[in-house]
Amino acid sequence: MSEIELLMNEHIRNLTPYSSARDDFKGKADIYLDANESWYDAVERANRYPDPEAVLLRRKLQEVLCLPFEKTVIGNGSDEIIDLLIRIFCASGKDSIMIERPTYGAYKVFADINNVQTINVCLKEDFSLDIDKMISTIKERKPKIVFICSPNNPTGNVFPLSEIETIAKENDGITVIDEAYSDFEPEFQSAISLIDEYPRVCVLKTLSKAWAIAGARVGILVANKEIRDTISKVKPPYNVSATSQRVAIEALDDNLEIKKVRDEIIEQRELLEKKVTSLPYVKEVIPTNTNFILIRVDDADRLYYYLMKKGIIVRNRTHEPLLAGVLRVTVGSERENKSLMEALNGYKP
Ligand SMILES: *Cc1c(COP(=O)(O)O)cnc(C)c1O
Repeated sequence: MSEIELLMNEHIRNLTPYSSARDDFKGKADIYLDANESWYDAVERANRYPDPEAVLLRRKLQEVLCLPFEKTVIGNGSDEIIDLLIRIFCASGKDSIMIERPTYGAYKVFADINNVQTINVCLKEDFSLDIDKMISTIKERKPKIVFICSPNNPTGNVFPLSEIETIAKENDGITVIDEAYSDFEPEFQSAISLIDEYPRVCVLKTLSKAWAIAGARVGILVANKEIRDTISKVKPPYNVSATSQRVAIEALDDNLEIKKVRDEIIEQRELLEKKVTSLPYVKEVIPTNTNFILIRVDDADRLYYYLMKKGIIVRNRTHEPLLAGVLRVTVGSERENKSLMEALNGYKP
C-alpha cells in the first residue's frame, strides 16, 4: 500500500466509485441514448450532463494558468474540495486537522460537519507562521491534514515558500496550501512546485476571486495523481455544471481583460490604503497581497454599523485573534471605493 493510501480512510480506499454514462462511454458518437437526458435543447445545451472530468476546462487551465492537466481536479468551488479532502483522510470522531488562526473559517466548519477535530495554532503577532509551534503540534497531535492559507484570509499576507516547505517536510500527513488570492501577488511563488518532491502536498486554487466568477463555483485542486484520482472518485460525478465549465473556459479565454481588471484592483487597493491611512481615527491599515484591505480602529463594531447604515457592507473581523478593531474591506470598483471613502470621511468616532 502506498504512503497516501495508508493515510486514507479504509472505506474510501476500498470504494468502488459510481460509474456514470460518461465514464462508461468516453468516445464521440452521433446519438447519445445512454443517460436518460432529454433530446430537447431548451437552454444553452443544458439538456446534457456535464463532463465529470472537465477535460476541456482542465486543458484550458493548463494553457492559461500552467496548471498541469494530469494533476488537476475541479470542485464545485474550492470549498467542495476542502470538504472532500477531510472526508477522504480524516476518520469521523477520531482524526484532526490543524489550522493557523486567524484564517479562513471554512476549514473548521467542514471539519465540524465531518466530526473531525480542529487544532488551532495562532499566528505570531506579525501574522507570520509560528513554525516551531506548528512543528511541535504536528509531532504531538498528528493531524491528518494541515491547512495553510497563503496569501492568508483574513490577514492578507503571503507566507514564504521555504517555510511552507519546512512544514511539508515535517508533516507526515497531508499539507494543503490554499492559494485563493495568489493572483493578486505578482511575485507569488506557488507551492505547486513542491508537489513532485512532497507528494502529500495539495494546492487549492479558485476562479472565484481574481478570475471574477464566484457565481460559477469553480475551484481547483492541484495534487499528485493518487490524491487527484481519489478526489475524482469521491466527488459527485457531475459536481461542476456544464454552464459553469463553459463560463470558466470563457473567463480564461478572456484572460487579458481579467488581468487588466486585477491590475486595476491592485492599483485601487494601494490608493485606498493611502487614503484610509490618512483618516485621523484609523490606527492602522494593514498592507495585504490580496483584493482586500484591513482597517484597524478603536471601535470596529461602531464603524461597521455606521457603514451598514450608509449601505456599505464590510466584514467585521474584530473578534478574531490578533484582529481586535479590524474591519476587512474588499477593494471594489473605482466608483464603489469613492463612495466608501466619502462614507469614511464623514465618520465621527
Ligand atoms: C474565497 C475563499 C475560498 C473559496 O473559494 P470557492 O472556490 O469560491 O469555494 C477558499 N479559500 C479562501 C481562503 C477563500 O478566501
